[in-house]
Amino acid sequence: MRPERMPRAAPAWSVRARILTAILVVTALGMLVAGGTAYLVQRSRVLQEVDARLLTAVESVRVVVSGPSADSPDGTAQVPAPAGYASVEGAMSAVMSRVLPGRNESSLALVDGSPAYISAIEPAFHLEDDPQFIERVISETSDGTVRMGTAITTLGPLRYVAAPVTVEGLPGQGVFVTAYDLDAELGEITSAFTTYAIVASIAVLAVAAVGWFVAGRLLAPIRRLRETASRITAAGIHERIPVQGNDDVSELTRTVNDMLARIDASLESQQQLLDDVRHELKTPLTIVHGHMELLDPEHPEDIAQTRALVLDEIDRMHALVDDIETLADSGELTSLARTETDVAALASQVFAKASAIGEHEWSLETVATGSAFIDAGRITQAWLQLADNAAKYSPAESPIVLGCTEGDGAVEFWVADRGPGIPPGLEKRIFERLGRVDTGRGIRGSGLGLSIVQAIAHAHGGRVTLATSSLGSRFGIEVPTEGGEPA
Ligand code: ADP
Repeated sequence: MRPERMPRAAPAWSVRARILTAILVVTALGMLVAGGTAYLVQRSRVLQEVDARLLTAVESVRVVVSGPSADSPDGTAQVPAPAGYASVEGAMSAVMSRVLPGRNESSLALVDGSPAYISAIEPAFHLEDDPQFIERVISETSDGTVRMGTAITTLGPLRYVAAPVTVEGLPGQGVFVTAYDLDAELGEITSAFTTYAIVASIAVLAVAAVGWFVAGRLLAPIRRLRETASRITAAGIHERIPVQGNDDVSELTRTVNDMLARIDASLESQQQLLDDVRHELKTPLTIVHGHMELLDPEHPEDIAQTRALVLDEIDRMHALVDDIETLADSGELTSLARTETDVAALASQVFAKASAIGEHEWSLETVATGSAFIDAGRITQAWLQLADNAAKYSPAESPIVLGCTEGDGAVEFWVADRGPGIPPGLEKRIFERLGRVDTGRGIRGSGLGLSIVQAIAHAHGGRVTLATSSLGSRFGIEVPTEGGEPA
């Protein structure tokens, strides 16, 4: 018994989820790189500006202490004090009253290591509130050089410059310190990029929502394909997947539908053949069974008669099985062995074989002279089948003509007889498998001959032709000379 198929669990990672993840990762990465780069560029611009302002402050201090000079300080030279000031305190006081801090900036004057003056206007914050920072500045300037640096203090991250101030000939050491609150300086771009991050996150969410919807719509035919395919069983193969739109996925759906149609047709024809064969085999079996039942074992004549009848019926069954086998082979389209074949030569070979069937006046009427790309063996088989039928169904000694005609890229191999013809309306029936017409003359057959001829014609991309009347029939196999695709 066939094991029951378990319904498959939904895949953990659907194609839809994968597509969406890829889109989201790329989008988020793109936004992150663009935003991050812009933020870093802006940040470094702000920091450069702060440094420039710090150096300007030092220059201002130098001007206050020593008067204008053609030499610009390089930021590392000690600022000398002119004799104009009576003490370092005086110089520092003058500096603090003249050099005023800007926004987010705070300045402080140290004298001998202690905070002595703050600027004339209220600074944004008080440097003297962080003694550790003051200590750091004093130690950094103890060698008498101007120092610039960044410090993380209790007041926040600061960018500062410290310039030592001395008055020549006087004791005491002054230090001018000015610093910018970096958090406040960077606040503007930080808030701009916070807004950017929020908008970017909303955009990513919107991409996710639209992407989920679009991917779902695009993949819907594939989902339907999967659902239909899993629904289809041998009994329900008639179902087709609805085709929507005109893209790759709908093309795939059409291809699968075509495949289903082919499987459907092949299953149907197999079923039909099975039904026909069952029906055909029933008759001889019933005959054999009936005669064997009525057989008188004491009567030698009866035994001999029954034996002959049973053998005859068995032969008929044998012939039927042989025909079915041939038909199965002919249905195999890939089994054609096509070669470039001389049509006239083939005609004379088939004629020689057909003439041996006997009891008729055979003649050959060859008009075709060229060659055709065909399976000569299969064409001979089909042509002889037509000749055999003609001999079987037309009166003894009547003339039968074999011929081949060429034209319009095709060649036709035909057989014409003076038989009774096919009764009107039954022309289709005789090409069906096991399809026979009762001639009333007791001619036996399986009804598979013409099906085999038709299968061979179709495998060559051709067709079977028929012209029939009460004066006779003309059956033909017409195939393309260049070698056609299977019909
Ligand atoms: P079979 O000959 O075994 O019955 P075929 O498929 O060859 O099977 O033929 C199907 C039917 O077509 C035959 O039963 C016969 O009635 C009819 N037929 C075929 N060839 C001829 C012919 N040349 N003349 C008259 N009837 C024919």
